[in-house]
Amino acid sequence: MQVLRHAAGFILLFMASAGLVQAGQGSRVLLDGLWTRAQLAGTPADHVVSRPYSKPADITPPLRLEPVARLAEVPAGSRGVIRRVHVPAGDKVLALTFDLCERASNRTGYRTEIVNFLRGQGIAATFFAGGKWMRSHPEQTMQLMADPLFELGNHSWTHANFALTDEAETRDQVLWTQAQYELLREELARRADGRGLGAEMAAVPASMTLFRLPYGRNAPETLERLAVMGLPVIQWDVLGEGGAGTARDMALRAAGEVRPGSIVLMHANAVPRHTHEIVPVFVDELLRRGWRFVTVSELLAMGRAETVQDGYFERPGDNRQFDTGYPGKGTLHPAPRPEAGKAAQ
Ligand SMILES: [Zn+2]
Repeated sequence: MQVLRHAAGFILLFMASAGLVQAGQGSRVLLDGLWTRAQLAGTPADHVVSRPYSKPADITPPLRLEPVARLAEVPAGSRGVIRRVHVPAGDKVLALTFDLCERASNRTGYRTEIVNFLRGQGIAATFFAGGKWMRSHPEQTMQLMADPLFELGNHSWTHANFALTDEAETRDQVLWTQAQYELLREELARRADGRGLGAEMAAVPASMTLFRLPYGRNAPETLERLAVMGLPVIQWDVLGEGGAGTARDMALRAAGEVRPGSIVLMHANAVPRHTHEIVPVFVDELLRRGWRFVTVSELLAMGRAETVQDGYFERPGDNRQFDTGYPGKGTLHPAPRPEAGKAAQ
């Protein structure tokens, strides 16, 4: 088995060095069979983020409350918050990740330039999508699902703060999102069948197998709850959108912080302002320095995960501020401030 795994690794490595690698899982035939290039490229309308509280919050659950597929429990050694992976020294490999966050109180966007750039350059990435985001962006979700460059992970239903949610709420946030993935995968399969491409669905994962904590927050019991649901917790050791200055400054700063086995946090939901400008500079700089990009699942298969027990951004405790300020246990934006003059009431 070990020999087989080494052989598979060698073949993958060979394919990567030859530029042939299919980084994630999926099918290019399926992607190109179901969408035109123009449909995949999207339009600026995809970037629109609705104003919080312009409509009532959407707290409706998905059409299926429990996923059909059940995952095996996470093994004991991988139950912490994973921040990076120890790969052989000098192995210039990293995982680029994008969160697609969406709370109950608005609809976020989809930064097409990021995905178009990654597709154009053949750069692998992992997208952690909220379940409600997937429901409000079905086409984009199915495209990411079908694309062999990309992998999809779970980012909770409506961006709940898992340091605050109880067991039932945690379960719903996670399993509703797993169920939404299945609903869209079934729609993808129907479309594939309609085009005579049903066999390609074998390459599309049946479930998401990774989880990212909203706000990077967890309670001690959260990790056990997620482990029972079969989802390792993936955080990051590099903030891709951090610090001051221009997008170029942020990109070069992040590129300078990357280590072998790093996991880099960015967003593709059109909320952070500069990400679509950061990505090309960051990627080009790392390619120039000889780095290669893999999905998180591929990175996890390359070495031992470095874990902590309490998620954070850069330093332990630096995300506790998010325990206040976002009502509904993190699932809502702060209420609009009353206008001056009405405040006294
Ligand atoms: Zn998020």
